[in-house]
Amino acid sequence: MKKIIYTLILVLFLAAPGKGQEICWTMENLKLMIAENPGLEKEMKAYEEELQKMLASQGDMLKSTTAVVSIPVVVHIVYNTDEQNIPDLRVTEQMTVLNNDFSGQTTHGNMGAFPSTLYANCQVQFCLAKRDPQGNPTSGIERRYTDTAIFINLNNVKYTAKGGLDAWNPYKYLNIWVDNMGGGLLGFAQFPSNNLPITYGAVIRYSAFGLTNTLPQYNMGATTTHEIGHCFNCYHIWGDDGIACTGTDYCNDTPNQGGYTLDPNPDVNGVIVDACTTTPPGIMYMDFMDYSRDVWKHNFTPNQQARMQALFTKPHGLLYQLTQSDGCVPPPFVCAVPGNLNTTSITENTAILNWDAVQYATGYNVQYRVAGGSWTTTATASTSLTIEGLIEGTNYEWQVQTNCGSGNTSAYSTVITFTTLGSCVNINAFEPNETLSAAALISTGVVINAGITSSTDLDWFKFSNTGSQKKIMVDLYDLPADYDIKLFTANGTQVGLSQNTGTLSEKITYNNGKVSTYYIEVYGHDATSYDPSNCYTLKASISSTNFSPMTNGILIDESNTSLLYSVYPNPASGIVNVEYNAAADGLLNISIFNVLGSRLTDTKNMVQKGLNNYQLDISNLQKGLYLLDINNGHDRTLVKLIVE
Ligand SMILES: [Zn+2]
Repeated sequence: MKKIIYTLILVLFLAAPGKGQEICWTMENLKLMIAENPGLEKEMKAYEEELQKMLASQGDMLKSTTAVVSIPVVVHIVYNTDEQNIPDLRVTEQMTVLNNDFSGQTTHGNMGAFPSTLYANCQVQFCLAKRDPQGNPTSGIERRYTDTAIFINLNNVKYTAKGGLDAWNPYKYLNIWVDNMGGGLLGFAQFPSNNLPITYGAVIRYSAFGLTNTLPQYNMGATTTHEIGHCFNCYHIWGDDGIACTGTDYCNDTPNQGGYTLDPNPDVNGVIVDACTTTPPGIMYMDFMDYSRDVWKHNFTPNQQARMQALFTKPHGLLYQLTQSDGCVPPPFVCAVPGNLNTTSITENTAILNWDAVQYATGYNVQYRVAGGSWTTTATASTSLTIEGLIEGTNYEWQVQTNCGSGNTSAYSTVITFTTLGSCVNINAFEPNETLSAAALISTGVVINAGITSSTDLDWFKFSNTGSQKKIMVDLYDLPADYDIKLFTANGTQVGLSQNTGTLSEKITYNNGKVSTYYIEVYGHDATSYDPSNCYTLKASISSTNFSPMTNGILIDESNTSLLYSVYPNPASGIVNVEYNAAADGLLNISIFNVLGSRLTDTKNMVQKGLNNYQLDISNLQKGLYLLDINNGHDRTLVKLIVE
């Protein structure tokens, strides 16, 4: 619908649609811009004159170009409600629509009675920006909550200071704002010009952007296609002259049209005629630059394509720089080596390895080893790793590399080391503790390590039971030599003894204790029982319920605290020792019962004050559980004995 160029000035002021809903505010916006900047009108007129000359000489070339222009897009979502904060899906849907519509692959509408030659592939593609103006990676989508419920001043959305979001450099990105615009409008755009202003781009109503959950008649993304048509210098197809036949869209392959179309009603041949085009194929109601509902919109014409391509020509096209933008090229990045490595929560068998997060990391590879050994490698998405199953008291090395995905990994960091806690980190940690009065305080339920480092070394410890946890058990294990333990009350009365042979573990259970402080003595069984470099492990436990004297048993009867028994080894075979610390000379009965309560043996033994030892021959007993009944005539104790 090409007419004389000078009608441009006129049509700008006749642009208000005369019927139905306001759809596109582009021409009104242009009027406001010209009112503020009268030079703009002159500039646009001059550009149009030059363009028409260019199209006259190079139009066929521009129409036939097959070089695809790639336009980086940034979508600024400015929302006041959750509904307006449209998901990324809507953006990607709209990008697909744009790429279809600008490449002659529109999925809706048809050309009616027009030849398919008027259905152009504009050779324009759009990509969501992959690097932002600062050179950082981006999704090409940015969001902002705004207090502005409705953007009555439609351009405010383009300014962060006015409740919107500032444009990204319009020479590098095509800016699209998505918001809740006033006036019931669907969108508006700005035409290209010299010295592209920061307002250049398109603004789209959130409910007409993308596909999912959009307005029923604007649910195919054509609003955005239409507005970007304006950004690419295409005018409304009816010439913005109301319903007159005098306006122009400066294209000679679009028929003259008397007004915009909203709901087309073509005849069986797809033809609509009006006062400006009275014969078939009629008006081009399916052109993206008409107002027809989305389902009807179908094409840009070759002339519209040429107007777009003229913008992208080298070197003076108004949008040539936009085609040279690196906005859709992901920024080169360094997959950096992790730093600030440190090791925490080191125990005998575990440790936590930590490092700082690295930009672009999709994960990390950690390798650790016993110093000088072979690596164990573990991948993690976290910036820390708990490693288990370590050897106590051992030096470990570890390092970490960043995995940035797609096989892109950093080098490994420098190696750092740590040492697991040993059972013998400081063999003298509790020294000096040679006497009851010098006993070292230990916590119940906590393992401690110490050593008998000489033939004269004695280790005394103290702990307390409580009213709610009166029962006592003392364990001594991991013995490097033949060590024994005794348990004493606060006044020095011995109430427990365990003296298994060799490096067998020792255990005292004492279930009749009063609430008090108790003392443990650890000592070498004889003058050769010590080790200057290896620790034993000691643990004092308290409980509200009886501890089982089941293994390596010592059972104490509090009613006579001088009645002390030790039965060892237990489990036993062949011979079992019963040691008895007598308060006075007398008799001691030792009987063996089976689990059915039958007495199998019964021995009466003379005892002398002090330590007495009896060896019971159990070689005739079958494997299983038995009870030793130890009775001095005043007190009786049952000890479980396992024969193996
Ligand atoms: Zn428009």
